[in-house]
Amino acid sequence: MAYQSTNPYDGKVLEQFKESDAAQLETQLATAVDCYAAWRTTSFTERREVLQRAAAILRERTDEFAKLITLEMGKLIDQSRGEVALSAAILDYYAQNAEEFLSAEKLHTKTGEAIVESNPIGVLFGVEPWNYPYYQIARFAAPNLMAGNVVMVKHASNVPQCARAFERLMTEAGAPAGAYTNLYISKDQVSQVIDDPRIKGVALTGSEAAGAVVAARAGQNLKKTTMELGGSDAFIVLDDADLDEAVKQGVIGRMGNSGQACTASKRFIVVESLADRFLAQFTAALAGFEPGDPMNPATTLAPLSSQAALDNLLEQVQRAVAAGAKAVVGGARSDVPGAFMQPTILTDIDKNNPAYKEEFFGPVALFFRVADEKAAIALANDSPFGLGGSVFTKDLERGKRVARQIETGMVFINKPNSSSPELPFGGIKNSGYGRELSSAGIQEFVNKKLIRVE
Ligand code: NDP
Repeated sequence: MAYQSTNPYDGKVLEQFKESDAAQLETQLATAVDCYAAWRTTSFTERREVLQRAAAILRERTDEFAKLITLEMGKLIDQSRGEVALSAAILDYYAQNAEEFLSAEKLHTKTGEAIVESNPIGVLFGVEPWNYPYYQIARFAAPNLMAGNVVMVKHASNVPQCARAFERLMTEAGAPAGAYTNLYISKDQVSQVIDDPRIKGVALTGSEAAGAVVAARAGQNLKKTTMELGGSDAFIVLDDADLDEAVKQGVIGRMGNSGQACTASKRFIVVESLADRFLAQFTAALAGFEPGDPMNPATTLAPLSSQAALDNLLEQVQRAVAAGAKAVVGGARSDVPGAFMQPTILTDIDKNNPAYKEEFFGPVALFFRVADEKAAIALANDSPFGLGGSVFTKDLERGKRVARQIETGMVFINKPNSSSPELPFGGIKNSGYGRELSSAGIQEFVNKKLIRVE
């Protein structure tokens, strides 16, 4: 069965879900359309109440929501709690700020009046990934519901319980039927939904492959999309960096969510003068992670989201090593049952190694030594991806100067990438287009309508 909840820690199948048939999908679409007709006329106050209630429920029942994440995709339980808190913060953020973000803008004109209003556009469709099962859908649903749109979500097939829990949360919070709809649908049905004239916009977070399929289909239908795809973020350590702090933050950047984040730090680019010491300390730190039950707060290494994810990552590491890379730590699966990957550092990756251009979605760091700042920037930019990145230096002005030369959507100085409701999130190049979160995220699927009086 396509939609299946399997615990990656012990391999147990927890629950299976039937895909919707054509009639069920039609009912869901029709309900969303009916809901939109009413929802678009509701006040910000009414919408705000629903989102704030949803945020309150997430906070009241954090453990219940967090446990489902850990059961379905293996995230360490404290990190699951953190994700629930962040999802609640996103709901609250848009509840509080949407009205201001979407307020009418009066233009300066020579004569008469010109106003740009932000009107909703209709039923939106989101295709979402498993790595942050609530956060990913909160950042799609919250701004769009506040803007007066309604949303339908096809979540990843390995997190169907989280998908159901979020839909129930919105219903419990008072969202009318059709405002938030979870879809258990096949890939063919994804195409049908995109083709359906009642769908007015499409958002996807996931791999480049899925993004290319979904964006092409939406393009054929002349529908706007946003694409939040993969990344291979550079983590640049300059000669004047605080080495201990850089190692500490590098561990956080690579190991959070067991490395399964699009904005995880993936390519560690360290200038020659610090390279040996950085590598020694980073290696020691990663070697200290111990696999265990992700439900146990004492566990440091979580399993990957599935056995298939582990197999793919192992194959990728083997290919890199066959092409000349060295695993200075790790390089294999952990010697325990479950989908565990040893924290790994690969060095000696030359330009012809496939790893040079690939994303490693798990606890595998690519290490590069470079002569200086200029070489670090050039290497950072020699990537098909352009999502985030980090620069470590004690000189913040230097950090900003380097950040401006990095070809990505986000750069953090002296920190790995992180997400917060008020910060725009998104990339360039093969990492996609459009922004989520912040004031920018709510502008993606609204009609910026000019009203002109001469
Ligand atoms: P996918 O891109 O395959 O899955 C993400 C979502 O897209 C899921 O809902 C999936 O559905 C759906 N999907 C996949 N293929 C298609 C298709 N042809 N048509 C319609 N929908 C589709 O991610 P994976 O689970 O395979 O993760 C692997 C890679 O994805 C990672 O290496 C990383 O690059 C990227 N990724 C990026 C994320 C990010 O935050 N930017 C998050 C997760 C993954 P289903 O589950 O049913 O296949």
